[in-house]
Amino acid sequence: MERPDQGAARLLRAATFAAQVHATHRRKGASAEPYVNHVLEVAQILAEHGAPEDAIIAGLLHDTIEDSDKDPEPLTQARLAAEFGEAVAGLVAEATDDKSLPKEVRKALQVKHAPGCSAAAKMLKLADKISNLRAIAAAPPAGWDHARRVEYVGWAGRVAAGLKGANPSLDALFDATYRAAMTRLAEEA
Ligand code: ZN
Repeated sequence: MERPDQGAARLLRAATFAAQVHATHRRKGASAEPYVNHVLEVAQILAEHGAPEDAIIAGLLHDTIEDSDKDPEPLTQARLAAEFGEAVAGLVAEATDDKSLPKEVRKALQVKHAPGCSAAAKMLKLADKISNLRAIAAAPPAGWDHARRVEYVGWAGRVAAGLKGANPSLDALFDATYRAAMTRLAEEA
């Protein structure tokens, strides 16, 4: 038997962990895809654009703290650190919004904090926005009218402006995704 591939094993352990945390979660789009599809997409985008392994792992786990907040035992940064290391846990913490704040405040803070993020966190957040823009353009959440979708895409662009510079190919993918989303929304107007 060959030696186990530690990198692949760690990635798949994170994917399984995320699938368990998100087992009952669904995306907001009309088809209500399993939420884990989103984090797999984020991790794939990171892997395809040369992000470091800890960023890819954090991509799989990036919504686990935020989305387990109503669980009987919410997931903590300390637990993630014990399972996947401090670097991954720190990245996930950087990508976690403070849900005690009103939504508009959280959105403003994302714009404000983006430029000060570490390079790996910038890549992770950019990949997250790319996945979300694709979803907003192609399968918008029920009840989101055209104006709300345009507003979301514009906000994602303002956050992304502060995230650029860490990974040029990811920056280019964001720009292409942003343009495609705006073009599609303009056609629907
Ligand atoms: Zn996300």
